[in-house]
Amino acid sequence: MKTTIVLRKVSIPFREPFRISNGAAARKDSVIVEIRRGEVSGFGEAGPLTGGAYSAETAESSWDRLEQKLIPFWMESEFAHPAEVGPALDTIPGEPFARAALEGASWDLVGRETALPLWRMFGSQSRPIESGVAIGIFDTLDELLERVDRYLRDGYRRTKIKIQPGWDVEPIRAIRERFGDIPLMVDANTAYTLDHLDTFQELDRFGLMMFEQPFPANALHELAELQRQVKTPLCADESAESQQSLEKMIELASVEIINIKVQRVGGLTNARRMYDRAHQAGLGIWLGTMPELGVASAQGLHLATLPGFNFPTDVEASERWYVDDIVDPLITLSEGGHIQIPDGPGMGYRVNAAKLEQYTVQRMEFSS
Ligand SMILES: [Mg+2]
Repeated sequence: MKTTIVLRKVSIPFREPFRISNGAAARKDSVIVEIRRGEVSGFGEAGPLTGGAYSAETAESSWDRLEQKLIPFWMESEFAHPAEVGPALDTIPGEPFARAALEGASWDLVGRETALPLWRMFGSQSRPIESGVAIGIFDTLDELLERVDRYLRDGYRRTKIKIQPGWDVEPIRAIRERFGDIPLMVDANTAYTLDHLDTFQELDRFGLMMFEQPFPANALHELAELQRQVKTPLCADESAESQQSLEKMIELASVEIINIKVQRVGGLTNARRMYDRAHQAGLGIWLGTMPELGVASAQGLHLATLPGFNFPTDVEASERWYVDDIVDPLITLSEGGHIQIPDGPGMGYRVNAAKLEQYTVQRMEFSS
């Protein structure tokens, strides 16, 4: 059957500039992969954040890798099942977002061809996924409290506060005083060392759900030491970059919880493998984001239906970050702060052809 792959870069404005360490991004750029086979299309997304805030990859580097290596390789290969795609693409190392995009499109395509939702292909059950909100660093406590208030009204099931030295204990104390015993956690994005032990001992008194990534990604021994000194569970995010790092963290008892990000580890199959191991080791698990547009978010949500994803996801409503999205329907929160994946094959959400056209800024086509 004739197969065509369409590579697109889409660009959608952020609702407000996304503040990152080296400036602010006004638009979210993602590379969207469409695989057309016969009458059916499957979609995948590579959505690294502009400016390399969370990763070295960019939309441009993802595009280049897809164009030059991954798509030509995929076109020459025969896959009996989409679970074979990820391991095959792993033989071309680097650019995990690009691999995740092509693999995600392969899963979505086969799901649509066989009329199966991804959750069923993963051997899971459909269920609503609890959604949590992540709130950045502000200049004043008043601004922070106003945001927390707003997102609690939206119904998010837990509130995550980004912290850094100088913005940690006071914001948490202020939130506890104002909002009481809400489900609350902090994310340090690697900003501390063991020299800040007393900060974490103070934070330990606020009954937080977890401390996400207090130390640098490779500081696995130091994480284990901190975990021995506090009762709040530690969560690995930046440290959870591969199966090998997960093994090491289990061996050292570095953390009690892991944040699995599909794009960071090169796709759904790799993420599934990490989930299997973490679940077997008794770790708490949740699905993180980079954050992506709706295509990659939706595919991650299917993975998060697996038992053992027992903390709220970072996937938020589409309108939280973006003025629009290309998925139809948009991702929304139910009354109770859950995301309900729409029924339907593949990722459930459809790609809106008109919006895809509207937001595309670059396009290239490959045919077998
Ligand atoms: Mg994080």
